[in-house]
Amino acid sequence: MDASGIRKVFDLAAKLVDPINLSIGLPDFDVSEIAKRAAIEAIEAGHNRYTQTQGIAPLRERLRKDLSAEFGRDVGEVLITSGVSGGLFLAILATIDPGDEAIFLDPYFVMYKHLLTLAGGKPVMVDSYPDFRFHADRVEKAITPRTKLLILNSPSNPTGIVMTEAEVKSAVDLARKHDLLLISDEIYEAFLYDAARDGGGLPSPARLYDCTLVLRGFSKSHAMTGWRLGYAAGPDAIISQMTKLQQYTFVCAPSPMQYAALKALDVPMRDAVEAYRRKRDLVYGRLSGKFHVARPQGAFYIFPQAPAGQRASDFVAKAIGRNVLMIPGNVFSERDTHFRISYATSDEKLEKGCEILLSMA
Ligand code: PMP
Repeated sequence: MDASGIRKVFDLAAKLVDPINLSIGLPDFDVSEIAKRAAIEAIEAGHNRYTQTQGIAPLRERLRKDLSAEFGRDVGEVLITSGVSGGLFLAILATIDPGDEAIFLDPYFVMYKHLLTLAGGKPVMVDSYPDFRFHADRVEKAITPRTKLLILNSPSNPTGIVMTEAEVKSAVDLARKHDLLLISDEIYEAFLYDAARDGGGLPSPARLYDCTLVLRGFSKSHAMTGWRLGYAAGPDAIISQMTKLQQYTFVCAPSPMQYAALKALDVPMRDAVEAYRRKRDLVYGRLSGKFHVARPQGAFYIFPQAPAGQRASDFVAKAIGRNVLMIPGNVFSERDTHFRISYATSDEKLEKGCEILLSMA
């Protein structure tokens, strides 16, 4: 496996002076004061040792209650993981035998491909260009007797696309028909900008299908990427195998951060999400005039197509030459046609970055 292409851009960024950095996959706000205080208090209160493998009981119970209310059924035991990355690692290790196949849409979050390879499995990418929607007919063609998993990521990194209820239902129908486990990576669940936000929240397959493993976390929603906290809920048999594997890998998620996260759950993040919705409107409004681009409905990414006749990686290199940092789409895809912008930055930088990109189109 290659070193992450995102890291290569970060290395380049380190050499630029005051770049317009549109490459970063984390919120530009800080951890709330309430959560910071709670973390300090947890350390001072002596919560500095291993916790139970599955995480501290009050956090697990709170998340179980919230998820059960959201999905309309008891979700069972929740496992606290070391970030959603930790959850993905344990989930894939727990389910994939050598030769097993896992399907996900291209473009995809980079980790899926490499974790599957690491487990001896076969990543099977289904092209979702140019609208990045879930096309059940394309996905069904990729299913074989070795297919074990269907991995969904909505809102998506890198496209910002949110699956509709109908798309989620068609994914669930496929999973039922072919007896697949769904892994639903919902790390950007807090960042919904359109209808789903005002209605019943994110359309999650966990509402419809018990054989769904939901992975969520605090990294993005609470700007705690460095705290390494996520959680998993799903079929008992999978959660118990993941717990066993956690004993021999991560041991447990960071202890004081678990106590602080429990308090962070009660901090309203609505203003931050509203601010990002406005940024989405700003960037999409500017770029859609000149670039082919699907309108994102969630997360904080947008994935435009490079100007005709140019490889996206060449276009990104040119943009970096003009001090604008972005990620070439081939980091997330088998294609080299698009680029990822993260709009989790100041409006001023966004305006400036868009201006430069428009002048290059
Ligand atoms: N899934 C997706 C789609 C992501 O974008 C990320 C982080 N960039 C992760 C999982 C992992 O996040 P973390 O380990 O920080 O929770």
